[in-house]
Amino acid sequence: MVHGGAWEIPGVAAPACRTGCRRALEAGERLLDRGGSAVDAVEAAIAVLEDDPVFDAGIGSHLNLRGKVQLDAILMDGETLEAGAVAAVERIRNPIRLARRVLEASRHILLVAEGAEEFAREQGMPLCLPDELITEWQLAAWLRCRDAGHSSAHHFASPQGTVGAVAIDATGRIAAGTSTGGTCCKYPGRVGDTPLIGCGCYADSTAGGASSTGLGEAIMKIVMAKSAIELLRGGAEPQAAAARMIQLLGERGRGAGGVILLDCQGRIGACFNTPQMAYAYRDSTGGLVLSP
Ligand code: ASP
Repeated sequence: MVHGGAWEIPGVAAPACRTGCRRALEAGERLLDRGGSAVDAVEAAIAVLEDDPVFDAGIGSHLNLRGKVQLDAILMDGETLEAGAVAAVERIRNPIRLARRVLEASRHILLVAEGAEEFAREQGMPLCLPDELITEWQLAAWLRCRDAGHSSAHHFASPQGTVGAVAIDATGRIAAGTSTGGTCCKYPGRVGDTPLIGCGCYADSTAGGASSTGLGEAIMKIVMAKSAIELLRGGAEPQAAAARMIQLLGERGRGAGGVILLDCQGRIGACFNTPQMAYAYRDSTGGLVLSP
């Protein structure tokens, strides 16, 4: 299952969000069909979403207060509980691919800013120019905020969706990941929930996988992804667990967002308290389900 963020998706943007989610789901499925692991599938699906300027991840991300893109991403392997994450990177086109390198080739879980980019260089990953991540759409929204004061209205109809994926493979291995440009006009250096293990994502093959989206400052307060997995471990149905977490996000976190879940039987759960959330998944009969 993949998501393209929980927000007020204007009618004009909805088809592009659906198409992007479907293409990402298919990229992940192709790998699973060829015997790839859940980790491969989640990485591939999220890379497609990062490359799609309609989402707030990779190219097309929100600009921060100083007009820069700073990206966060995480990838977690539910078999080993190993995770790799990066935060506040400015020269990485696909932060999820760098998160995979951190997962596999570093003894750390989270690398930030210049250190993360130095690690990318060491790993032979190309660095891009910061401007390559900026789209005209996002620049226009940022200029409106700079000139008239920040307002979410200035971003209406420009891409706003963090992206994420959860997958289970033929061996029962579960993986989850999330990638974002963060919130619009965020303070430089601000890092939200996304790259934090247990907040932006969590995966444990003995219970399930989760990917979060929404206001990071609220999601962190309730450690949303790990809390959702603990509900699954306690026997909750994925849909009930997702609904409970979103209720908590509103009541205790005082924020808006969404979560997608997969349990170890491959059952899906998804809930959000925003007007919409973009998503795509396969139901138990193999049918494709897309957000409206
Ligand atoms: N959770 C992301 C953040 O706070 C934003 C989002 O999901 O829309 O950085």
